[in-house]
Amino acid sequence: MKNLIALKKSFPLWGKSRVCAGMRDILGHKPLSGLRPSPPKGERVLALSFLLALFLFTPSLSFAILKVVTTTPDLADITRQIGGDHVKVTSLAKGTEDIHAVPQRPSFVPLLNQADAVVAIGMEAEHAFLPALSDVAQNPHILPGQPGYIDVSEFVHPMDVASNLSRAEGELHPQGNPHYNSDPRNGLLMADAIAAGLSRLDPTNAETYRTRESHFKEELSGKMKEWQNLIQKTKGIKMISHHRDMAYLADYMGLIIVGEVEPKPGIAPSPKHLKDLVERMKSENVRIIVREVQYAEKTAQWLSDQTGAKIATIATMGGAFPDSQTYIGFVEHNLKAIADAAQ
Ligand SMILES: [Zn+2]
Repeated sequence: MKNLIALKKSFPLWGKSRVCAGMRDILGHKPLSGLRPSPPKGERVLALSFLLALFLFTPSLSFAILKVVTTTPDLADITRQIGGDHVKVTSLAKGTEDIHAVPQRPSFVPLLNQADAVVAIGMEAEHAFLPALSDVAQNPHILPGQPGYIDVSEFVHPMDVASNLSRAEGELHPQGNPHYNSDPRNGLLMADAIAAGLSRLDPTNAETYRTRESHFKEELSGKMKEWQNLIQKTKGIKMISHHRDMAYLADYMGLIIVGEVEPKPGIAPSPKHLKDLVERMKSENVRIIVREVQYAEKTAQWLSDQTGAKIATIATMGGAFPDSQTYIGFVEHNLKAIADAAQ
């Protein structure tokens, strides 16, 4: 009401600087009276209503766009696809990085501090950087368990869940295998998780999120029909990878995992482990070495030289290659790389 009285007082300035005069008055400056005649009554009521609406709705307008921080570029793409104009999305990790070893960059702190939501892979995949930076960011709304923390893994059926949950010996998958994002069947569930999270935070636009999610899932489902041709080429073929990140994608492609370069996720191989791996690859006729782009090519090349298996270079996150900037592009790049190596 105070504002309203102040606005009324400012109307003698009509014709010169209408809004500015009002603002000056509200800020405590005295209006200059008598410079201009009053405007017609209808016009005055209209202008007054406009300014009042501006005052009443400006705070909510500033929150109309959700500031969302995702941990990976593929999560960022799905969030943009579902959120449209209602979200402003930033990804913390780069597509070529190792999700378990993303540096704790100081630039992440203000992003987390100002975020309305964090979208994470979960299952402790982001253990290296997210918990520590979230603590520093002093934004309780985005901490685990809060509405602003969207843990996508809650919608996915986890694989490789160990009975003994521990980080002993540097184990990086204490809650099961978190590399579910490369399997497009999980892409559909990831969309469900993100749409649910955005709707929880912004129920006014829930219908829009549902509609946009349906479009995304239709497009992905259409692609999955196309990808059946690629999967036909990989069924029953034996493979190894550097890190234990192929469980979901191998299941989708019908590949048989024979082993990994790392004896346990995050543990560097000993010479004996590599020698044993070569023997196993030879005896089991392993044809594909999956080399994740974040690991140096040297080991994969050495294994290929020893065994004749072909190298397929893939990414474990979106954004690593020019053709994998979207979630669908990310999945397709990996499928094609592995299907090519299976020829
Ligand atoms: Zn991992």
